[in-house]
Amino acid sequence: MTERVGIVGGGIIGVALARRLGEDGAEVTVFEKESRLAHHQTGHNSGVVHTGLYYTPGSLKATLCAAGRVRIREFCEQKGLPYREVGKLVVAVDESELGALAEIERRSIANGVPDLTRLDDTARLREIEPHAAGIAAVHSPHTAAVDYPAITEAMAQDVREGGGRILLGHEVTGLLVEQGRVRVVTPVSDDVFDRVIVCAGLQSDVVARFVGADPAPKILPFRGEYWEMTPESSRLIRGMIYPVPDPRFPFLGVHFTRGVYDTVHVGPNAVPALAREGYSWGHVSAKDTWESLRWPGAGPLAKQHWRMGLDEVSGSLFKPLYYRKARRFLPELRMSDLARKGAAGVRAQAWGRAGDLLDDFAVDQVGAVTLLRNAPSPAATSSMAIADYVVAHHLH
Ligand SMILES: Cc1cc2nc3c(=O)[nH]c(=O)nc-3n(C[C@H](O)[C@H](O)[C@H](O)COP(=O)(O)OP(=O)(O)OC[C@H]3O[C@@H](n4cnc5c(N)ncnc54)[C@H](O)[C@@H]3O)c2cc1C
Repeated sequence: MTERVGIVGGGIIGVALARRLGEDGAEVTVFEKESRLAHHQTGHNSGVVHTGLYYTPGSLKATLCAAGRVRIREFCEQKGLPYREVGKLVVAVDESELGALAEIERRSIANGVPDLTRLDDTARLREIEPHAAGIAAVHSPHTAAVDYPAITEAMAQDVREGGGRILLGHEVTGLLVEQGRVRVVTPVSDDVFDRVIVCAGLQSDVVARFVGADPAPKILPFRGEYWEMTPESSRLIRGMIYPVPDPRFPFLGVHFTRGVYDTVHVGPNAVPALAREGYSWGHVSAKDTWESLRWPGAGPLAKQHWRMGLDEVSGSLFKPLYYRKARRFLPELRMSDLARKGAAGVRAQAWGRAGDLLDDFAVDQVGAVTLLRNAPSPAATSSMAIADYVVAHHLH
């Protein structure tokens, strides 16, 4: 008998899973609470296809990013969607960063990043990015820019053509496990499935609670705000310039990214969002903020990261502070070259009871319900490989 699978969440991961399961012959239904797909993280990200420079060798991030990059490239080719290999430099600006840069190079080699080169002086890195500052860098020429919402729509089209259903405006408000099957309840529907997969991004811990899953990891929403370079100043950037990231923190630091449609954005920073879907400082949810503050990990996290937190928040509120950080990599940049980009993104970062920010992708199983509990960057790059992984390890 054909298996009936319900998927909660119409971001890139939910839709990639629906496509993959549809190919396998399952009868799939995607429930998305918003009126369009890719409304949250998938539609508010940097649009980068990562090659796997940073991740711990052997981790799910490392293996699924490498496999996912190839799958996304092939999918874009097949569908005629834009895919631009603009390349990326990770730049050490002073000697204190050389150790961390060497570690990135080591990880990149272990992760099989294709055609990686080490550039040992300013002259060599300026052959790639003529206006960049820095004393050494690694260059990943196959890092690419794409349009993730367009990719998600193209995958959704395949789902529909294969007979799958995508239900927009259907917020899942209950999951009831009954005799090994799962009832999916929304305000406008009520249906029973053999399996359910939850890919609810910023709401993944909320939906996990419907089936009595462990409240940990909780989602800690971290907003990433962008600035956009004016068209005249964007000629200072050919591809992408990234800093050497702080290994204690799961985000990559402020970077310059030439997007698939040729605008250059600077960001994202990482400030605590005061609501799960809080895209600006003015968007506050007392409930979400209170839940974060009383989480047992709040104290240890604040103790460990308060200095960096303060720095990020000040950079968000005061443009000159942010500009100073950006100019470190691009000395010719002027403050007037940066215009605030309207759309920020909010990252769904999983957070343990001890205050630890989970690094790797995480999947849990409660009976017939599979829960994606942590799918931060590079999960858009990895989405098609995550779908393969979930099918191979959780559905058979
Ligand atoms: C600022 C930023 C920059 C990033 N840059 C990159 C990058 O350059 N490259 C990269 O690979 N990754 C990047 N990422 C990460 C990437 O965007 C995410 O990992 C990826 O989009 C996760 O996809 P998803 O489907 O899990 O989540 P989402 O896209 O957030 O989708 C989850 C969906 O579930 C829906 N939902 C939630 N609750 C319910 C419910 N109860 N009922 C029905 N529907 C529900 C939501 O409305 C949402 O549409 C970035 C993320 C951010 C925020």
